[in-house]
Amino acid sequence: MSGPLAGQSLKSVIVSHFHPDHVGLAGWLCETYGLDLTMPRPEYLHSVVLQCAPADHGEAVFRPFYRRHGLSAEATDIVLSRGHEYLKRTTGVPASYHRIKHGDTITVGGRAFGVQTGGGHALEQAMLYRPEEKLFLAADQVIARISPNVSVHPMEPDLDALGIYLTSLRAIKASVAPDVLVLPGHGLPFHGLHDRVDELIEHHALRCGELAAACQDRPLSVAEIVPFLFNRPLDAHQTGFAFGEVLAHVNHMLGLGQLRLETDAGGVDRYRTV
Ligand SMILES: [Zn+2]
Repeated sequence: MSGPLAGQSLKSVIVSHFHPDHVGLAGWLCETYGLDLTMPRPEYLHSVVLQCAPADHGEAVFRPFYRRHGLSAEATDIVLSRGHEYLKRTTGVPASYHRIKHGDTITVGGRAFGVQTGGGHALEQAMLYRPEEKLFLAADQVIARISPNVSVHPMEPDLDALGIYLTSLRAIKASVAPDVLVLPGHGLPFHGLHDRVDELIEHHALRCGELAAACQDRPLSVAEIVPFLFNRPLDAHQTGFAFGEVLAHVNHMLGLGQLRLETDAGGVDRYRTV
């Protein structure tokens, strides 16, 4: 090995979650450098599913799902095809791995880290905490400038992803000290974990408020709500994220009794503020 890691003895790649920008080259890294893979079980298993699933997996179910939520046929095609190209550029995961789970302690370079997991952005995303040195590796659960995507996918159409994410944020605030250095999965390290958690919780409360206002006078489908929450042009990739994000808010508000489902004669699901 050359570069900054020359002479270091590497043993394992620790991957926080199944998204391709995190697990994408795990297979290549492990094979090239003779490393093990360490990952939470749901994240590992879902990575295996994605690498093994045929390109048209689920389309017979997912297409009517998107149409029922008001997405046009054209937009549905784009959303269904997104990810295919992305997956082609990833290398999968090895056939075996080491499982980490919430409450475990793992040692990295002589330092012990407590493992925490949280859902909402992924399934059971792993975060690492070392209170002795005030270090918190937050992966994508808490990031400084962007709000981590919290989405519902047609594989689990009724999931309250937002409720799960908010629960995780509160758990992080309760268990991780406010003065840690946060090392996130995107962007720069930062201080102010608790303030950032509060901002993210407030951001989603504002989003729910905007959604309630939009559906106050007439019921709207998920696709019709998207422009109310994202008032800028979206490309196909962003449309898929925006759709899933809106549905996460809709499911959360349905669970709280803040929205009511009304299905029209054409079979499109719309939501009205209660
Ligand atoms: Zn991610």
